[in-house]
Amino acid sequence: MASQEIETLATALSRLPGLGPRSARRAVLWLIKRRETALVQLLDALGQVQASLVECQVCGNIDTSDPCGVCTDPRRDQRSLCVVEEVADLWALDRARLFTGKYHVLGGRLSALDGVRPEDLAIDRLLARVEAGGIDEVVLAMNATLEGQTTAHYLAERLEKFPLRITQLAHGLPVGGELDYLDEGTLAQAIRARRPVS
Ligand SMILES: [Zn+2]
Repeated sequence: MASQEIETLATALSRLPGLGPRSARRAVLWLIKRRETALVQLLDALGQVQASLVECQVCGNIDTSDPCGVCTDPRRDQRSLCVVEEVADLWALDRARLFTGKYHVLGGRLSALDGVRPEDLAIDRLLARVEAGGIDEVVLAMNATLEGQTTAHYLAERLEKFPLRITQLAHGLPVGGELDYLDEGTLAQAIRARRPVS
């Protein structure tokens, strides 16, 4: 029988993606055994995150500054904008250092099933960025899911009126493939062989 405090911690951890109740309990035990090292370190890191992370008001990235490090990086190509569904996708693409432009995070995907409408995503903010000028190419890097592709299609229509090259990730992404789960080789291939939206 575990104490109430330990139960509460295990329940909180079990809500993390990829962790079920069993692995959450194992993680709690692991942490308790390393109370002075791992547990203190984790508390410290969580506190820092809680205290300092903000959403970038330009691109939607999560960082310790607003505008974020990506938006303020002068070495990046200002004329190229890569639109992704989630912050995790931005991080996946950027981790692989495949795309040297800037990003725009939508905060989800259109979904009739989940009731996600265009106004629920950062689409107006995207259009405003494009309208402000200075952008030559928009890469629609949606997941290869039905909803991801519906979203890409919708965005391509909304962006049609601007003098832009609109491209999307190459086929060869596995169907249903979510960017965050792809290996860097597959991601690299998809970015390099990006093609105009037809
Ligand atoms: Zn940003």
